[in-house]
Amino acid sequence: AAAREKRTKKTKTVCTFCGVGCSFEVWTKGREILKIEPTEQAPVNSISTCIKGKFGWDFVNSDERLTTPLIRKGDQFVQASWNEALTLIGEKLTFIKEKYGGDALGFVSSSKTTNEEAYLIQKLARQVFETNNVDNCSRYCQSPATNGLLATVGYGGDSGTIQDIENAGLVITIGANPTEGHPVLATRVKSARKLRGQKLIVADLRKHELAERSDLFLRPKQGTDYVWLTALAKYMIDKGWHDEKFIRERIDNYEEYIELLDKYTLDYASEVTGLSKETLHNTAKMIYEADGTCILWGMGVTQNIAGSHTSGAIVNLLLVTGNFGRTGTGAYPLRGHNNVQGSCDMGALPQSLPGNEPLTDDEARQRFEEAYGVSISKESGLTNVNMLVGAQAGSLKGIYLIGEDMALVDANAEHVQDALSNLDFFVVQDLFFTKTAQFADVILPASPSLEKDGTFTNTERRIQRLYQAIEPLEDSKPDWWIIQEIANRCGAQWNYHHPSDIMDEIARLCPNFAGVSYERLEGWKSLIWPVQHSGKDEPLLYTKRFNFPDGKARFSLKEYVPPLQFPKEYDLTLNNGRLLEQFHVGNMTNKSKGIQYKLPEVFVEVSPHLAAERGIKDGSLVRLRSPYGAIKLHALITDRVEGNELYVPMHSVQHENAVNLLTGTAGDLQTQTPAYKQTKVKMDVLAEN
Ligand code: SF4
Repeated sequence: AAAREKRTKKTKTVCTFCGVGCSFEVWTKGREILKIEPTEQAPVNSISTCIKGKFGWDFVNSDERLTTPLIRKGDQFVQASWNEALTLIGEKLTFIKEKYGGDALGFVSSSKTTNEEAYLIQKLARQVFETNNVDNCSRYCQSPATNGLLATVGYGGDSGTIQDIENAGLVITIGANPTEGHPVLATRVKSARKLRGQKLIVADLRKHELAERSDLFLRPKQGTDYVWLTALAKYMIDKGWHDEKFIRERIDNYEEYIELLDKYTLDYASEVTGLSKETLHNTAKMIYEADGTCILWGMGVTQNIAGSHTSGAIVNLLLVTGNFGRTGTGAYPLRGHNNVQGSCDMGALPQSLPGNEPLTDDEARQRFEEAYGVSISKESGLTNVNMLVGAQAGSLKGIYLIGEDMALVDANAEHVQDALSNLDFFVVQDLFFTKTAQFADVILPASPSLEKDGTFTNTERRIQRLYQAIEPLEDSKPDWWIIQEIANRCGAQWNYHHPSDIMDEIARLCPNFAGVSYERLEGWKSLIWPVQHSGKDEPLLYTKRFNFPDGKARFSLKEYVPPLQFPKEYDLTLNNGRLLEQFHVGNMTNKSKGIQYKLPEVFVEVSPHLAAERGIKDGSLVRLRSPYGAIKLHALITDRVEGNELYVPMHSVQHENAVNLLTGTAGDLQTQTPAYKQTKVKMDVLAEN
């Protein structure tokens, strides 16, 4: 064994830091990570990676990793064996189910777990506890995009691949900052612009790096994207710049849509959004003249009370202009975490089964009832937002949470922490002792991606294998192993020896994954769902049919919902988002010394205009206060933001300055995704610098 430790080993893995899905070889010697080497065989990124993929892996060997189960005794956590911890969990969860019913429990999966693990957590909820109360953290980001797509074109995923985006004549990004959130994808867009003359329109509150490079930059007022998108659709129809043949042949409800459009004139849009009529005209003209348009969107769209409506409006504009079914066209929500797409595909959602089939589909539900030997309700379970409401009200008694720092990630962090304190029993499974873990009764040490086998599905719907590069640290375990142990202590008889056994079951039960197998994903191979039994996959969707029984798309007929109103004294709009070097709230990337050195703290971006008006200098300490809480940060004066707009990175290096202490509980009207982007604050200057 000692000799083996000295040998250098190369293992193929898939990056865990964003939804682009870069793959590369990780070179290890024992537990030491020597380097990350991308190769030309990597289907998404070839020889590229970004800083996180290349250098962000220190967290795997961090001294702060959890290495043994912990059980709460009073105010302390004491070390326990796996048997003690799992037995306690089995007894407590079974007790709650027997006393209050399975619906008194909630199961929260991470969007960082593998597909196989997301599948098992939903199976645990549905088969063992007979509840649909299972969700994952796409609830906090991408659910509105999925919702908008399902209602219009029928699949909750990107229409094509990153290559299809590169082939577009025009790319429009809305409320997304790919340079920092999806760096390798951004590079591909930038090269398409340079090499092929692809045009780029960026719509955002903040003039970030990609906006600086765009052919046209739109800066609409916060929460008004729906209006300019819908007005463009009307304007293009009125000018004859739409695709009448495509609409007549491939869409079901054009007449109703025309009625909805009536009031969305350019005058109205200009008044609501603050964009000039000329800018709107120019945008429409660029779409009309382009040989194919792709629209990419992110959380600037989805984390609003009308995130689903606006996602629908994006699809509507693409439908009106015939921009589906060919390379260089389509709708591309940019998935944030590495496995947001896969966690949803695997049914870790309260409203759908594995394989993207809704609970209301009787045939699909019966197929799973038969396989699981239980009856499954067609009613949706609780979202993780509603699990917290239930916990606060006392109706939800226990939560089993995997890889999610809810106490920092959910909006209105103080309210979340109250709710978690109110649970009878709370299990947290994670790599680190997170803020959320402080509220747990049992904490289980999990293994990160480099320590296990499995598959991830990237933003393109591309399924790729990752291979175990190093052994689990000390007594930590892969999530799939832990979930199986808990299931079996609660009466199940699962017998999976390897994640490939789980994928075989998924393929047997889910038509969209019928042809997926570990053999077909060997090495650098990948498959893009839906995958037929023969192994034929479908990188570009909607070439002939949309995913409805009649094959036709539907326009979304939702109306505009104005942004939330705040008392007048909250006079500044607070935006938040990512930085290139960090991942999410920073629980992993903050363990990397290089990243800590580069970004020792977060800051608030202030416009030169606002800084001059309030006497703020670079480095001034300011306090931001919303109706929900207050944080203190140093100011960074930059013209990336304009007027009364502020920007705070979401990576909370210090927990007491987490931006979610300021955000509120209102959420998207259809999916409950918190309206993180609709936050108003007031600002006091505490010290000049
Ligand atoms: Fe990882 Fe995303 Fe960077 Fe690729 S772009 S290396 S997937 S963080």
